[in-house]
Amino acid sequence: MPTYDFRCNACGAEFSTFVSVKKRGSVICEHCDSGQIKQLLRGFYVQGTSGGGACAGTGCASCPSGCSA
Ligand SMILES: [Zn+2]
Repeated sequence: MPTYDFRCNACGAEFSTFVSVKKRGSVICEHCDSGQIKQLLRGFYVQGTSGGGACAGTGCASCPSGCSA
Protein backbone atom coordinates (compact mmCIF):
# COMPACT_ATOMS: atom_id res chain seq x y z
CA MET A 1 0.00 0.00 0.00
CA PRO A 2 1.49 3.33 -0.98
CA THR A 3 2.25 6.16 1.38
CA TYR A 4 0.55 9.45 0.70
CA ASP A 5 1.65 12.83 1.94
CA PHE A 6 -0.90 15.26 3.24
CA ARG A 7 -0.92 18.78 4.56
CA CYS A 8 -3.45 19.99 7.06
CA ASN A 9 -5.15 23.25 6.19
CA ALA A 10 -6.17 23.74 9.80
CA CYS A 11 -2.86 23.47 11.63
CA GLY A 12 -0.42 23.39 8.71
CA ALA A 13 1.12 20.08 9.69
CA GLU A 14 2.46 17.77 7.01
CA PHE A 15 2.34 14.06 7.49
CA SER A 16 2.52 10.82 5.60
CA THR A 17 0.16 7.98 6.07
CA PHE A 18 -0.69 4.64 4.61
CA VAL A 19 -4.12 4.81 3.12
CA SER A 20 -6.00 2.98 0.44
CA VAL A 21 -7.16 4.85 -2.61
CA LYS A 22 -10.73 4.47 -1.47
CA LYS A 23 -10.00 6.18 1.82
CA ARG A 24 -7.87 9.02 0.52
CA GLY A 25 -10.87 11.33 0.78
CA SER A 26 -11.55 10.50 4.39
CA VAL A 27 -8.12 11.00 5.90
CA ILE A 28 -7.95 13.27 8.91
CA CYS A 29 -5.01 15.20 10.33
CA GLU A 30 -3.04 13.08 12.76
CA HIS A 31 -2.19 16.19 14.74
CA CYS A 32 -5.51 17.97 15.16
CA ASP A 33 -8.01 15.49 13.70
CA SER A 34 -9.17 18.06 11.17
CA GLY A 35 -10.62 16.80 7.95
CA GLN A 36 -9.42 19.86 6.09
CA ILE A 37 -6.38 18.29 4.53
CA LYS A 38 -4.88 18.37 1.10
CA GLN A 39 -2.92 15.61 -0.52
CA LEU A 40 0.58 16.49 -1.58
CA LEU A 41 1.86 14.98 -4.76
CA ARG A 42 5.53 14.14 -4.53
CA GLY A 43 7.38 12.19 -7.15
CA PHE A 44 4.40 10.30 -8.34
CA TYR A 45 1.00 11.06 -9.59
CA VAL A 46 -2.09 8.92 -9.60
CA GLN A 47 -3.47 9.45 -13.03
CA GLY A 48 -7.10 10.01 -13.69
CA THR A 49 -9.89 10.97 -11.40
CA SER A 50 -11.68 7.65 -11.33
CA GLY A 51 -12.95 7.07 -7.85
CA GLY A 52 -11.40 10.30 -6.66
CA GLY A 53 -13.52 12.48 -4.43
CA ALA A 54 -11.69 15.80 -4.73
CA CYS A 55 -12.29 16.30 -8.44
CA ALA A 56 -15.58 14.55 -8.81
CA GLY A 57 -18.12 16.56 -10.69
CA THR A 58 -15.73 18.95 -12.38
CA GLY A 59 -16.59 17.23 -15.62
CA CYS A 60 -13.38 17.89 -17.51
CA ALA A 61 -10.35 15.85 -16.57
CA SER A 62 -8.02 17.95 -18.70
CA CYS A 63 -9.24 21.32 -17.53
CA PRO A 64 -6.61 23.01 -15.36
CA SER A 65 -9.19 24.94 -13.40
CA GLY A 66 -11.96 23.75 -11.15
CA CYS A 67 -9.87 21.30 -9.18
CA SER A 68 -7.54 22.33 -6.40
CA ALA A 69 -6.20 18.84 -5.87
ZN1 LIG B 1 -4.04 19.50 11.60
